[in-house]
Amino acid sequence: MAAKDYTRICNNCGNRWLLPKEWATEKAPRGSQVKAMGRASLFAIGKQRERYSMQSMALQGQQERVLSNARCPGCGSSEYTQYKPGDAPPSS
Ligand SMILES: [Zn+2]
Repeated sequence: MAAKDYTRICNNCGNRWLLPKEWATEKAPRGSQVKAMGRASLFAIGKQRERYSMQSMALQGQQERVLSNARCPGCGSSEYTQYKPGDAPPSS
């Protein structure tokens, strides 16, 4: 069974966690982009407003996901080493 997940190992406490590729490689949207979309959704009306607020929520969700995945679930450190599927992370 081939591993599909990326492995991140905390540089601080050695904790390891797995991430699917989409999450391991996605970038957080810029804060200004998230804010602009939030504002756009306030001023838009009707269908446009719906669309903006969905995009706004999606951006916020993505931002939160990236930030929380970039932090060790054990100690909260954001220093980690990432291994691709197929790489052999050192066995602890
Ligand atoms: Zn840690």
